[in-house]
Amino acid sequence: MQEFDTPVVDNHLHLDPDHGRGLEAVKDFARSGGTHLLVVNKPSWLLGHEVETGEDFRPVFETTVEVVREASEILPGRAWPVLGVHPGLVSKLVDDRGYDPEAARDLMCAGLDTAAEFVREGDALALKSGRPHYEVTDAVWEASNAVLRHGLDLVADCDCALQLHTESTTDLSDVAEWADERGVPGERVIKHYAQGHLTGGTPSVMSDKDRLEDAAERGEPFLMETDFIDDPDRPGAVMGPKTVPRRVDWLLDEGRDAAVRNAHVETPASVYGVDTEATLDR
Ligand SMILES: [Zn+2]
Repeated sequence: MQEFDTPVVDNHLHLDPDHGRGLEAVKDFARSGGTHLLVVNKPSWLLGHEVETGEDFRPVFETTVEVVREASEILPGRAWPVLGVHPGLVSKLVDDRGYDPEAARDLMCAGLDTAAEFVREGDALALKSGRPHYEVTDAVWEASNAVLRHGLDLVADCDCALQLHTESTTDLSDVAEWADERGVPGERVIKHYAQGHLTGGTPSVMSDKDRLEDAAERGEPFLMETDFIDDPDRPGAVMGPKTVPRRVDWLLDEGRDAAVRNAHVETPASVYGVDTEATLDR
């Protein structure tokens, strides 16, 4: 049982209690010194839901809320749900199910409306949206950006943060501008799967050493994540749940205490308004 003198937060991972490792992954994380998790719902289609209305997302979100409740009992800190609609859904709808881009947009916006209800009730910490990371038609790109802007409308209304899945980039100035127009602080726009630096938002940095070194060196606000997908069919597809604690260990060995405090105490506080130290019972 590893223990650090600091909270250790994985800002983006998935748990699939029915098909994946679920709480066993949480135990691995905790045994390695991990304390807090932000658990993002899996894409609706991977849980076997063929959504047709915004309400159809509800069981997807409830699965996450439930596993978060159980994870919080295992962790020395706690877990929080991050709920939303995976941007890849637009292609499932348009390419596989015959939706036109506008109808796909409306359904995805309705799904985000349902996610926002959980935030308003205090059952989720943040929302998740984005746009495809692969080549799409102009119409699908425009529909996706409209969904993303709707996500920003909702976080302005709910006073929460927005995690984004986007194309691979270190510049999200366009999104930061849309956030600003809505009075959403730029830092509350979080790019998941990020490099070590980002213009326009807060990077949630994938926990490989090169990216972390970059983030630590710059000293700007950042978070750390694995994007563990908990999918038994793709065991090697992403980092495992022990990765963030191991990288924290490495950063501390390198004398990067300030970076650890940045990613695990200060940035969670400024972005989400959570106190990772006060929620630690040791
Ligand atoms: Zn993810």
